[in-house]
Amino acid sequence: MSGWRLEHTYAKLPPLFYTPVEPTPVRDPHYVVFNVPLALELGLDVEALESDDGVAIFSGNRLPDGAFPIAQAYAGHQFGTFTALGDGRAILLGEQVAPDGRRVDIQLKGAGQTRYSRRGDGRAALGPMLRELVIGEAMHALGIPTTRGLAVVATGEPVYRERVQQGAVLTRVASSHLRVGTVQWAAAHRDIDALRAIVGYTIDRHYPTLRDAERPALALLDAVAERQAVLIAKWQLVGFVHGVMNTDNMSLAGETIDYGPCAFIDVYDPATVFSSIDMQGRYAFGNQPAIAEWNLARFAEALLPLIDPDGERALDLARASLERFARLYERAWLDGMRAKLGLFTAEDDDRALVDDLLAWMTAAKADFTWTFVELSRDGADAMRRADPSFGPWLERWRARLARQPRDAREVTSLMRRHNPIVVPRNHRVEEALSAAEQGSIAPLGALLDALRDPYDYTRPRPELSNPPPPADVPYRTFCGT
Ligand code: AMP
Ligand code: MG
Repeated sequence: MSGWRLEHTYAKLPPLFYTPVEPTPVRDPHYVVFNVPLALELGLDVEALESDDGVAIFSGNRLPDGAFPIAQAYAGHQFGTFTALGDGRAILLGEQVAPDGRRVDIQLKGAGQTRYSRRGDGRAALGPMLRELVIGEAMHALGIPTTRGLAVVATGEPVYRERVQQGAVLTRVASSHLRVGTVQWAAAHRDIDALRAIVGYTIDRHYPTLRDAERPALALLDAVAERQAVLIAKWQLVGFVHGVMNTDNMSLAGETIDYGPCAFIDVYDPATVFSSIDMQGRYAFGNQPAIAEWNLARFAEALLPLIDPDGERALDLARASLERFARLYERAWLDGMRAKLGLFTAEDDDRALVDDLLAWMTAAKADFTWTFVELSRDGADAMRRADPSFGPWLERWRARLARQPRDAREVTSLMRRHNPIVVPRNHRVEEALSAAEQGSIAPLGALLDALRDPYDYTRPRPELSNPPPPADVPYRTFCGT
C-alpha cells in the first residue's frame, strides 16, 4: 500500500543505539508541503499519499506499513562541550528501499517526546521545518549532498518558543542519520563491541569497498574526512553557512544535515555569523573548514581503540589521517573556484587570483552570489564602471583566461554551471515562510520552484534572485526550532 518498502537494518544494532517509541498523535493535521518529485523518486504512491492517509502518516498519527519506530541514540560536542543527546523529537520509521535500490531513512522530526528529550517538548515549529525543507531542496538542486524534506504537515497544535507558534512535523529523508556523534556515543560507553558494531554498520551502509581494509576504522576515518572535505568545499563555493556544526550534526554519509539557523551569505564576509546563539563566531562562514577538521579529530578520538590496540600507534595513524583533510579541502575548493572563474587549466597563481577577488569583495562589500553571476554574463565591465577598484583584478583575470586554449563560449558555459543565479536569499525565505505561517502557500511554492533550477540563466527571476537592499541590521537566525 502506498509504495512503502521499509526495512530496519539500523534496528539490528545493539540496543544501546536506539529506543523503540511511537509518535505522539496530533490533533488536527494538514499538509503544508508534499514533495512530489521526491516521493516519486522513492517509489511512493503519490495519489494515495495526497489524501488524508498521507497526512495521517506524515503527522505521526498512523504508521505506514512495515514501520518500526525508534529514536536513535547519539552524543555530540555542542559548541565544544561533550553531551549525551539522541533523537529528542525525531522518530525513525525505517529505511525505504527506493526502486533504484537506494536505501534512505524516513524520519519524522517533531513527532513527540522520546527517552532522549531531556527537557524538550518533542515538537517542532512550522517556520523552521519549512525552512529545513526549502534550504534542503535548494542544496539538492545546487548539487550538494543533503538530507531532504518529503513533507511538512502542520499539527493544528501550538508549540511554545519565544512566541507561540504552529506545530509541524517534517518528514526527513536521509542516506542515513549516522553522525560523528553516533560513534562518540559508543566510545563514551567504553563499549568496544558496540563501537565495532557501529563502525561495521557504517562501512556496510556507506563505504562497502572498505569492508576488507586492513584497518577498517582507519579507512573509515579517511573516507569520512574525504567526503566532508568535498562537502564543506561545496558549502564555501555557494556561500552556505550551516550555523551549528556540532559533531552530532555531522553526517557520516557526507550529507548536509540538521538545518537550524543556517543561511546563505549575501554580502561577502568570512566572519559572517547568522545564528543568534553563536556569540564567539565559532561557526562563522570562514571557520567552517577548520571546524569540520576539529569535528573529525573528535571522530578520530572515538575510533582510536579500533585503529590499533597500541594507543601510541593508534594516535600516530589517526594524526596522519587527519592531516590529509586540509589538503583535500583545499584541492576541492580551489578546483571549484577555478570552475567559477571559467578556468579549465591550473596555474600556480590561481590561489592568489581567487584570494584577491575575495579580498576585493570584502572591501567592496560585494554580494557573493551576484559577483559570480555578473562575471558569468558579461557584467564585469559594468562592475568596473560602478567601482574602478575592480579594474586591476579584472585585467588579471582576463589575462589568465587568455592563457588557456578555450573560447569564450566554453568559459561562459563552465561558469554558468558553477555559479548559481538563484540561491535562497534570506529576505525571500523569510517572506515565504511568514506567508505560509499565515496560510498563504503560493510564495513558498514559487520560491521552491525557482530554487529547483539554480543554474538556469535563460530564466531570470530577478524578484527572487537579486541581492537584498543594503540592511541596517545584520540578518539573524534563531535556534528556537
Ligand atoms: P539540534 O540543535 O536540532 O541538532 O538538536 C540538538 C539536540 O536537542 C538533539 O538531541 C535534539 O533531539 C534535541 N532537541 C531539539 N529540540 C528539541 C525539542 N523541542 N524537544 C526535544 N528535544 C529537542
Ligand atoms: Mg542535531
